[in-house]
Amino acid sequence: MRVSLEDFEESCLQCQRCDLAKERQHVVVSRGHPSARLMVIGEAPGADEDARGRPFVGRSGRLLDECLADVGLDQEEDAYICNLIKCRPPGNRRPSPAELKACRPWLDRQIREVNPEILFILGATATATLLECRTPISRLRGAWTEWNGRYVMPSFHPSYLLRNPSREPGKPRALFMADLTSVKHALNGVVSGLASDSSDP
Ligand code: SF4
Repeated sequence: MRVSLEDFEESCLQCQRCDLAKERQHVVVSRGHPSARLMVIGEAPGADEDARGRPFVGRSGRLLDECLADVGLDQEEDAYICNLIKCRPPGNRRPSPAELKACRPWLDRQIREVNPEILFILGATATATLLECRTPISRLRGAWTEWNGRYVMPSFHPSYLLRNPSREPGKPRALFMADLTSVKHALNGVVSGLASDSSDP
């Protein structure tokens, strides 16, 4: 791992910037490849992640890994996986605006250090926070946009897919797989239907 990314992780692991530090077991920074062209960003660690200190290692994570594999992406080699905030909100509640604000510099630094070309953002909270936009995820998903010079594909959070397991066409699982397939194509150099204002990279 690069020294600057190691420095980032070491600093992040000591963070006390918000009250979530009081009850956490672990700061949950990342898993996957530190030089991946694809960064997957979820919302926050849950109980399994807090216990093990790694993101997406519970049921949602297993589903994410399965979906990545289904499009030919290796969870450890092809993606760097992290969350918007690095400590578990008690009871898995949604992070507060103050917690999101306190933790945002860590994510911004993480994106700079890993320098991915593509961000695959999971769920409404992560999408709304990163893109600063209130459009529902059901309308944003499936369309490429551009953010700070990177391609962004928003989609559903795997926990939503666990609650909606049908694989029928038009259902969340099928839509998620379509979004992930677009990501795979983009990694292969094909990004179609970019919906951004390219004057604001
Ligand atoms: S959630 Fe983020 S800002 Fe809050 S203590 Fe954890 S790492 Fe620090």
